Amino acid sequence: MSLRLYDTLTKEKRPFTPLDPKNVRMYVCGPTVYDFAHIGNARPVIVFDLLFRMLRYIYGPDQVTYVRNITDVDDKINDRAARDFPGLPLNDAIRAVTEKTADQFQTDVEALGCLPPTFQPRATDFVLPRADGKTDMVTLIQQLIARGHAYEAAGEVLFDTESMPEYGALSGRKLDEQQAGARVAVDAHKKHPTDFVLWKQSSAEEPGWESPWGRGRPGWHIECSAMAEAYLGQTFDIHGGGLDLIFPHHENEIAQSRCAHGTQAMANTWMHNGFLQVEGEKMSKSTGNFVTIRELLNDWPGEVLRLNMLKTHYRSPIDWTVKGLEESARTLDDWYWVAADSKGGHPANKVIDALSDDLNTPQMIAALHLLRNSAAAGDEKDRGKFAASLRMLGFLSESAAEWAARKQQGGGVDAAKIDSLIADRTDARANKDFKESDRIRDQLAAMGVTIKDSKEGTSWEIAR
Ligand code: AMP
Ligand code: ZN
Repeated sequence: MSLRLYDTLTKEKRPFTPLDPKNVRMYVCGPTVYDFAHIGNARPVIVFDLLFRMLRYIYGPDQVTYVRNITDVDDKINDRAARDFPGLPLNDAIRAVTEKTADQFQTDVEALGCLPPTFQPRATDFVLPRADGKTDMVTLIQQLIARGHAYEAAGEVLFDTESMPEYGALSGRKLDEQQAGARVAVDAHKKHPTDFVLWKQSSAEEPGWESPWGRGRPGWHIECSAMAEAYLGQTFDIHGGGLDLIFPHHENEIAQSRCAHGTQAMANTWMHNGFLQVEGEKMSKSTGNFVTIRELLNDWPGEVLRLNMLKTHYRSPIDWTVKGLEESARTLDDWYWVAADSKGGHPANKVIDALSDDLNTPQMIAALHLLRNSAAAGDEKDRGKFAASLRMLGFLSESAAEWAARKQQGGGVDAAKIDSLIADRTDARANKDFKESDRIRDQLAAMGVTIKDSKEGTSWEIAR
């Protein structure tokens, strides 16, 4: 077993050799926190959680550093803050939006069986020079200017893409092609159409920091260059994110990080997950073809969403369907039943081998089905391997009894909560407070619960 990963930069699957096996380092671009994350956003989170688990398995749990940032400065956040908290000063409103959304995100991805990354830095903590001396954005920009890779124009600081001969290598875009093909009007202050913003001015209504270039805010790309270096150093092992980030985001991260220090690489392996569409169509808020992780978690256990995501290889597109979810739910019901809380055992070699081949999850699932059959036929050793494999992959977080009970209670419904509402209603009726008892009945109905009163008491069932 030796891990091989596909690298977007060299376009080949290569044996993975960490720079330092005692500290394997991975950075993944995290969410911009202004609204609930959708199921497409869950894909990189689950895919790179699986890789994190594999790296911990191979190199040891304490020998892997995984950084996933939180982007909490963005014009979409400003708009949301002004809309949702009109009474608050802008900075407080922004903080309210980003904290609430970041908490929602943490709750969602934990329910998907994802381990917390080692560090989850927030961009706004890395704008200005820090007391602890960790890399910050302003210092990085100053280094780029000092080395002749960035210039000030019209109140902005821009990266000079022509100053880097390899600019475009990740996305395969050539500077000349872009210039020739540039139909959009070029901002007059840019030396070259691909030059991008490192720092821009803020108006009084926009969040801003005092910098050598006046009060302003950083461009998006410089955030990740700063936070990656702060925790992982100038060159590290793996950088990941969705396919849409290859250009311009990752191309520009590479340009910034390499040119600030004159290094040969920012990361040695660049990995990108494919896109997810819903019921055969691109996800889009305007057409209503859009689904949040939170909505799905109301209807399905997080492990069903996780398995459904892993059925497809991470580089292929996924068509996310209810039919697929139903299938994944049936598979997990069966796996819980067969694994039957078996303890001990090690993950199966066939599962590890499949993952070692550039996270080949379809092959991994085929291996799990074979183990399941062998376990169901009474092979106790395979039952142990089956359960240990599932745990390593982020499944079997519940006991088989809990899983079965949840199912009986109807998917994600919280039986304890229903019981306590029914007890409140019984009290209200005893006190002849029929307004309150009717209100509770309506609340239960809204949860999909119908109740039946009889001499023996109140029983309930889920209306499906
Ligand atoms: P964003 O908050 O839009 O920057 O996205 C956060 C992460 O989700 C990035 O790694 C994106 O590439 C990824 N992502 C966004 N939409 C999808 C999608 N439909 N399918 C897969 N990944 C996505
Ligand atoms: Zn990034």
